[in-house]
Amino acid sequence: MPTTIVWFRQDLRVDDNPALAEAAARGAVVPVYILDDATPGEWAIGGAGRWWLQESLGALDRRLTEAGAPLTVLGGPPRAALEALAAATGADGLVWNRCYEPFAIARDRAIKAAFKARGFEVWSTNGTLLFEPWTIATKNGDPYKVYTPFSKACLKSPRPRAPRDTPSTLNAPKIGSTGFEISRQLVADDAARVGGLRQHWRPGAEFAHETLANFIEDKVADYGESRDRPDYAGTSTLSPRLHWGELSPHQVWQAVTAACGGEAALDPGRGSEIFLKELIWREFGYHILYHFPELPGEPLNERFRAFPWADDAAKREAWRRGRTGYPIVDAGMRQLRQSGWMHNRVRMIVGSFLVKDLLEHWRHGAMWFWDNLVDADLASNTLGWQWVGGCGPDAAPYFRIFNPVKQGEKFDPEGAYVRRWVPELAELPTRHLHAPWTAPATTLATAGVRLGASYPRPLVDHGEARRRALDAFARIKQAA
Ligand SMILES: Cc1cc2nc3c(=O)[nH]c(=O)nc-3n(C[C@H](O)[C@H](O)[C@H](O)COP(=O)(O)OP(=O)(O)OC[C@H]3O[C@@H](n4cnc5c(N)ncnc54)[C@H](O)[C@@H]3O)c2cc1C
Repeated sequence: MPTTIVWFRQDLRVDDNPALAEAAARGAVVPVYILDDATPGEWAIGGAGRWWLQESLGALDRRLTEAGAPLTVLGGPPRAALEALAAATGADGLVWNRCYEPFAIARDRAIKAAFKARGFEVWSTNGTLLFEPWTIATKNGDPYKVYTPFSKACLKSPRPRAPRDTPSTLNAPKIGSTGFEISRQLVADDAARVGGLRQHWRPGAEFAHETLANFIEDKVADYGESRDRPDYAGTSTLSPRLHWGELSPHQVWQAVTAACGGEAALDPGRGSEIFLKELIWREFGYHILYHFPELPGEPLNERFRAFPWADDAAKREAWRRGRTGYPIVDAGMRQLRQSGWMHNRVRMIVGSFLVKDLLEHWRHGAMWFWDNLVDADLASNTLGWQWVGGCGPDAAPYFRIFNPVKQGEKFDPEGAYVRRWVPELAELPTRHLHAPWTAPATTLATAGVRLGASYPRPLVDHGEARRRALDAFARIKQAA
């Protein structure tokens, strides 16, 4: 019987998995995940991501085993791992769902060529995007650099396909020794961090579907009003599910449109429309990464190469640990470290603070997020940080600088978010919560807050920092 290796990567699911379905239609299947730390270089999977991956692979293995084909997990360079697996199983085919990171594209091309040369049937397919990057282009055939026309073009294209049928059973050959050690090194080694992640998440496709169903039932209708409020759990929290492929965007698109009246789900202003357009932001990130593969390291706007960044390790560390003295920033950074996730509005606020108030290079932020987010995704993270830095596609203009106090007052008006993540400020009255240094000494004392001791004084004065950032920006503008 023809036997196909199905190489799982960011598609850790059995349902609506085109690679798996196509391999099963061909004959027997050999599902494998390979922990590849070499190819991505500095973008090897981060600590929080490793924890998620480990858990999600366990869930995937359980599903695959039930269907008849257990998962093999290998480590090391993928080409050698795949060759050993092919030798051990007698496989004559190889398939995967495509990845779009520049290093993954280069790696996969080389592997495809090598296996084809050995007479294998090798193919790849799309299980990850609604609109693959080369299918959407401007009238001149160029890639888009601005979200709104990109999203319009997506919505003018044929609607995303329906999810594919799940193979009911899988045939698998018996696997001999592959000569590779099953990776035991997946998990982040910090026990406290793992404990926090465990408290907040249940990885695996089964829980991904539960999260999607709850979002549709309870939140999508109000998504337009509630999505910007970190104190209110109004977003879907599907980002790690989508990054790891526990759910396909096609499944999400179909479930939301089916529950919200089909095409009417896209009626302007409805919660479902705003949500589906957020899914298209994810597509935009991949479009940009594919067409501008240098962006994880370089600004799209070349003028920013000469930006006079500061380089203050102590300030960066205060930012990372949530000790900047600005409560909304500290709440976000602690939410990130403790739960592996941060609300989108707060990602923008903490990003703006790092880049504009501290004048630190956005890449420091991108790398810290990379290690700490369970949804760390090269396309979305790069897009987000270039947006924050004012140097990317469709970016926030550099001169628009978030005031962390006003942002806190506007998006966390009762202070519930800050009180949750910065408990040492919990007793402060709301009117002083986002700027504790403005509180009278007696108020601070009653709330048990000792500035400079139990909670830091502001790391920088926002007004001065703002002027410094604008000066720095003026310098690169003049130089251009
Ligand atoms: C500095 C910065 C870094 C970011 N890094 C990442 C990252 O590494 N991984 C990641 O998945 N998202 C990233 N984002 C985008 C966004 O913050 C998250 O996708 C969102 O907060 C996830 O929460 P949710 O699933 O509840 O989103 P929802 O509001 O429920 O949105 C639904 C889905 O749409 C997609 N989406 C929503 N907003 C965006 C966006 N701005 N860009 C791209 N896709 C989006 C996500 O897949 C998300 O799960 C970043 C944003 C910023 C500003």
